Amino acid sequence: MKILLTGGAGFIGSHVADAFLAEGHEVVVVDNLSSGKMENIPQEALFLEEDIRSPVLDELFAQEKFDMVSHHAAQVSVRVSVEDPLFDANLNILGTIRLLELCRKYGVGRFMFASSGGATYGEQSAFPADESHPQSPLCPYGISKLSSEHYLRYYEQTFGIKGVILRYANVYGPRQSPHGEAGVVAIFSSGMLQKKDVFINGTGKQTRDFVYVEDLAQANLALLNANLSGAFNVGTGTETDICTIFNLVKEASKSDAKQVFKEAKKGEQMRSVIDYSLIKSKCGWVPKTAIDEGIEETVTFFRNEIKNEAL
Ligand code: NAD
Repeated sequence: MKILLTGGAGFIGSHVADAFLAEGHEVVVVDNLSSGKMENIPQEALFLEEDIRSPVLDELFAQEKFDMVSHHAAQVSVRVSVEDPLFDANLNILGTIRLLELCRKYGVGRFMFASSGGATYGEQSAFPADESHPQSPLCPYGISKLSSEHYLRYYEQTFGIKGVILRYANVYGPRQSPHGEAGVVAIFSSGMLQKKDVFINGTGKQTRDFVYVEDLAQANLALLNANLSGAFNVGTGTETDICTIFNLVKEASKSDAKQVFKEAKKGEQMRSVIDYSLIKSKCGWVPKTAIDEGIEETVTFFRNEIKNEAL
């Protein structure tokens, strides 16, 4: 298949690109490198440095005749979405519609979309949340992801473009930026290895569902091969609290960091965990990487990064 992968220079997109290429698919990455990095893009992929909303994409679609779009490019920060909801909506909603319109115009029949379990479900009433859980996003980022989900369904019903919505849990692993607001494993790993102060916001008892990025890439592949449509949670069904993450990273990085607590972030959810039974039953995907193994891999990645930067 010839696949357009937006955001392929980013953390998750680059691992998805690796997985698609390993299965023999052709991958064209479009990324404006606003947070992504050139070195994340696999050599075998074609790369166009461009905004997903650029008119140049019209020519690209005309020329390349894609079979599928895998849409990972986005404004990914909850904080930015709160400070500038127009910017968030412009990129995350209008950008998605623009790509769907190009699919319609050029006859691209399949569209996979990186949505969010945590951000679209909002405060959960069931643990773990399955795909039928009410979606009540608490921030503009969650609203823009949910809105894009609706557009995917509309384009499927109206124009027959098969849409797959992947509702990711909290993704972690190599290549995640340690400079974002989220990405606690990357922040702790990079900070502890460099003997910098790392902080736990709130009590550290808040839980998240941490899914390893290579497992997530395999979920993308499984859904591509199964040729399904609809929404699928991609998580582990397991809650891990932030203090536990702190201790696991501390052990893996052989750090002597002490737990230092800061004021809780306003409006932060206390618990978030999603049920992956649907993707398991439909295409056999299960998360394979235990949290301590995934953290070990992530710490090793950051150790090498820091070593290379020092050379
Ligand atoms: P990331 O910032 O590493 O990747 C986003 C990529 O999109 C970057 O390479 C960036 O340069 C590119 N990009 C941003 N704006 C663009 C634009 N206008 N045109 C072209 N490219 C642009 O973030 P990530 O964590 O890899 O997230 C990938 C996707 O997964 C996003 O859609 C995000 O909302 C979603 N997601 C991530 C998580 C998580 O835990 N990281 C959880 C749920 C959903």
